[in-house]
Amino acid sequence: MTPNSSPADLSAFWMPFTANRDFKEAPRLLASASGVYYKDVNGRQILDGTAGLWCVPLGHAQPKIVKAVQDMVAKLDFAPTFQMGHPAAFELAERLKQYTNNRFSKVFYTNSGSESVDTALKMALAYHRARGDGTRTRLIGRERGYHGVGFGGISVGGISGNRKTFGSLLTGVDHMPHTHNLEKNAYTKGQPEWGGHLADELERIVALHDASNIAAVIVEPVAGSTGILVPPKGYLKRLRELCTKHGILLIFDEVITGFGRLTTPFAFDYFDVEPDMVTTAKGLTNGVVPMGAVFVKQHIYDAFMDWPTGIELFHGYTYSGHPLACAAGLASLDIFENDGILEHAKGIAGYWEDAVHSLKGLPHVVDIRTIGLIAGIELASIAGKPGARAFDAFKQAFNDGILIRTTGDIIALSPPLVFEKSHIDELIGKLSGILQTLD
Ligand code: PMP
Repeated sequence: MTPNSSPADLSAFWMPFTANRDFKEAPRLLASASGVYYKDVNGRQILDGTAGLWCVPLGHAQPKIVKAVQDMVAKLDFAPTFQMGHPAAFELAERLKQYTNNRFSKVFYTNSGSESVDTALKMALAYHRARGDGTRTRLIGRERGYHGVGFGGISVGGISGNRKTFGSLLTGVDHMPHTHNLEKNAYTKGQPEWGGHLADELERIVALHDASNIAAVIVEPVAGSTGILVPPKGYLKRLRELCTKHGILLIFDEVITGFGRLTTPFAFDYFDVEPDMVTTAKGLTNGVVPMGAVFVKQHIYDAFMDWPTGIELFHGYTYSGHPLACAAGLASLDIFENDGILEHAKGIAGYWEDAVHSLKGLPHVVDIRTIGLIAGIELASIAGKPGARAFDAFKQAFNDGILIRTTGDIIALSPPLVFEKSHIDELIGKLSGILQTLD
C-alpha cells in the first residue's frame, strides 16, 4: 500500500482521534522503525521527535525487547490471570514495585492508559466504601487535563472536544483550574514561578461539597496532551498537603511522565511528591505491546484486606498481565536499569532545553516550555482557525523527515530518551527552518 492508494483501499479504517470527515488527504503511512528513525512506505527516513506517541523511550526495535517478546510468544502466548497467573506477571509486578523504590507495593495490570485511569478511579471509590466511608464519591480533575477516553477518564478530563458528544458522563465530578498562564510564565525553563497557589482551589471545592463527599483528585504531574503544562513551583506539594488534610486520595496520571520522561523513573521522583496511586502505560513496555499498570500504596490495598466491610475490588481485564506485555516490560526495565538510560537522558537534558529555547524569536512563536525531555512550542493561532498553523508545521515536518506532534497550536516534542545531541540538532534544526517559512 502506498500513500497514493485509492481511497477505497484505505476507507475501512476509522482512524482514531482524526476528524475523518475533513480528512481528505492520503494518510501518512509508516512502514518500519529502528532506533530513533521511522521509514515511511516510500523508504523515506523520518526522525522520531515524539517517541511514537510518548511511548518509545528506548528507541524502536530495541533488540533485547524484540527477542524477549519473540521468546515469550513461542513459549506462552496467553495465560489467564484471574485467580491464577504466570511467572512473568508476578516477576514484573515485583520489579515495578522495586523500580518505584518500594514506595508502591501493589501493581494492577491494565492494557492502556485509559484503562489505568478508570481502574484507579474505581479503586478510589471502592477504597472509601471498604472503609465504611461510602459518601466519598466525588472525583476531581482539572481543566485541560487528559486522562484517556474511558468514561471515567473523559469525565475527570478537561477537554471539551473529548466530552461534549457523549452525554452526561460521570456525575459528581469537579474540575480545578489549569495552571497555564502565558502572561506570567512564558518561556519558562522547568517549573514556572507563578501559579503554586492554584492548588488552593481544592479548598474551594472542599468548602462547596465537604471533604466527606470527595473521593479523589487526579492530575497529570505534567499535562502532555493539552500542550505541555508544567506544574508551578509548590503546586503539587500543596495539592498533596490538602489531599492528606481532607482524607482525599491523590492520583498522579503518569501515563506520559512515567518511565524516564523527566529523567527520573517517575514524575513523583522528580517533584518529590508521593501520590496514593499512579497510573502508567506507554513506556512500561516501550510501546511494543499494549500494557498499563496502576501502582498502589499499601494502605489502599489494606483497606480491602482489613476492614470489616469485606469489600473486594471486582475488576480486571482478559489481557491483564498478558505474557507478551510482561516480557516486553521486563526487558524494558532491564534496559532502564542496566544501560544507563536515565543517566544518558540527564546528560542531554540541558542541551535539549537550550536547543528548544533557541527557537525563541522565530515567527509566530509565543511560548516555549521545557522540562526533562519534553518541550512545548506554542504558536500564535491563525484567526478563526485554531490549530491550523501548528498542523501546517506538522505536515511540513513530515515532508522534511521529522515527526512532531501538535495539539491545538502547540507543537509537543518528546524524543526517545536515547536521542544523541546530533538527533537534537537534526530535529530542532529542521523545525527552525519550518517555523521560518510558516504563513
Ligand atoms: N493519561 C494520559 C496522561 C495520557 O497522556 C494518555 C494518552 N496520551 C492517556 C491517559 C490514555 O492512554 P491510552 O491512549 O493508552 O488509553
